[in-house]
Amino acid sequence: MRNHHTSQQPGSPQQDGFASRLVLTFGVLDEARKFFEDRGTFGLEGTAMIKAGASLDLVIPRQRAHRDAYGHVNVEVAREGQMDLALALVTDEIYVARIHSHPGDAFHSAADDANPVISFEGGISIVVPFFGLGLRRGLDACAVYLFTGGSWAELPAGPQRDRCVVAEKP
Ligand SMILES: [Zn+2]
Repeated sequence: MRNHHTSQQPGSPQQDGFASRLVLTFGVLDEARKFFEDRGTFGLEGTAMIKAGASLDLVIPRQRAHRDAYGHVNVEVAREGQMDLALALVTDEIYVARIHSHPGDAFHSAADDANPVISFEGGISIVVPFFGLGLRRGLDACAVYLFTGGSWAELPAGPQRDRCVVAEKP
């Protein structure tokens, strides 16, 4: 097994003319990359959430990453991590995206599809390849999925993705 395992609020700063386009800041993506690369030095995946409010911020919950004797990896956010995520939100903030790393290719595994954490209309899920190293090549090197109509749809890099989610230039 090759596993590893709401739309924007009105007036939020992530809007830039498109109805609900998410603009990922360089700071958030760079923080995510550094965290994933650090976990990658142990051969482990990492996962984090992106919240939007007055600003866009990365939230890294406590998590349990596993690696078996065959090199299969996964990461889970158990009760204590879910508490971290809940406590990180202040008034008018919402989670808009999940971002996590894979050891190899970036794709949504069955476990990723089943993860309920961001499964609401307009939710975004980003998978970073190569233990986070892929982010050095930017969002285009990552897999991006949009939750719509009750399931996850992949947004291939290009104009379709750019209408929903883009990365700010450094
Ligand atoms: Zn995954």
